[in-house]
Amino acid sequence: MGRRNFITAGLGLAATSVLPGIADAAPAEQTPAPRANKPVAVRAWGTNRVAGPLQEIQIERRALGPNDVLIDVLYAGICHSDIHKVRGDWGEPSFPCVPGHEIVGRVQAIGSKVTKFKVGEIAGVGCMVDSCGTCENCLADREQVCLKRTTFTYDSRDDVSGGHTYGGYSDKIVVTERFAIRIPPGMDLVSAPPILCAGVTTFSPIRHWQVSPGQRVGVVGLGGLGHMAVKLAVAHRANVTVFTTSPGKVADAQRLGAREAVLWSDTAAFKRLANSFDWLISTVPYPFEVQPFMDLLKLDSTFVNVGLGEARGLSSFAMAFGRKNLSGSMIGGIAETQEIVDYCFARNIRPEIELIRPDQINAAYERVVNKDIRYRFVIDFASTKPRV
Ligand SMILES: [Zn+2]
Ligand SMILES: [Zn+2]
Repeated sequence: MGRRNFITAGLGLAATSVLPGIADAAPAEQTPAPRANKPVAVRAWGTNRVAGPLQEIQIERRALGPNDVLIDVLYAGICHSDIHKVRGDWGEPSFPCVPGHEIVGRVQAIGSKVTKFKVGEIAGVGCMVDSCGTCENCLADREQVCLKRTTFTYDSRDDVSGGHTYGGYSDKIVVTERFAIRIPPGMDLVSAPPILCAGVTTFSPIRHWQVSPGQRVGVVGLGGLGHMAVKLAVAHRANVTVFTTSPGKVADAQRLGAREAVLWSDTAAFKRLANSFDWLISTVPYPFEVQPFMDLLKLDSTFVNVGLGEARGLSSFAMAFGRKNLSGSMIGGIAETQEIVDYCFARNIRPEIELIRPDQINAAYERVVNKDIRYRFVIDFASTKPRV
């Protein structure tokens, strides 16, 4: 690729002056932008073995193609999926494994054909970085279920560079502009990353099943995804009930806008609420007994499992009697991801986050597993970089 095929700029001052409204953006690196016509060695946080601690390692990002953007990562969320992957819960990942699919950063260089971004603007990357673009599902803006193959942001076969993809726990990422999300000027960048997975994962089914004002909606599990489900269902003016195993989260559920919070152990409440819900969403990342929740649904209503916890204990008789639906949903398409970012910005809906340093990732994983986070960790890479 010749010099004309890319444009670079790495000076934080110029970038900051383009976007004066972004108070939370740290200045970009003082070091010059990498030569984007070559693969770039970048710092990342990953592991070389199952359940191994995440450590600082070096990975390579591809040379900038004509449609690519190079993003200097500022903040990245910790999703429970990251932990499942690293710990081999979904099978052994490819190594080195660099997780992270809730990424916000500053565009540091663009390829010659890029039209969606200018250098210095803020971009996000969610759960996927490529798809065929031509199949029926891609053409319907459902790239997450590409019929040929979706390339996920990390631990996915990388058809462009070979090997496998590396996620957002890294200084920089290169992605085709089609899969980069615009972050509106003035958006709070520190709390924005979880919108790119937790937000769209709950928003997409809320839209698909047309959650509407006055409907009785249940949110099962109040973690990273669950708290976004509550906020988004409340924004759609649904009457929300949270089902949690943590007595300490009951007050929080109400603070987030739920009308009621019910403990899983409260069998009397489950009896009282039988056959009364229009829609239920589960964000539980572990196997669990689903029938008690199915019993809460009205006739013909749907329980959507986005947490990927295995649904156990279904009763065929109870399902048939109520003509109940059990469904799943996985993240959302790129257009939907852009829509949820814009939706949250317009309504000032912010994920609730705790900001940590990269050297706290391993401790944060333990806290996620122990349900000791309200509600999402975000890793601060911005402050690890030299300031102007
Ligand atoms: Zn995720
Ligand atoms: Zn496709």
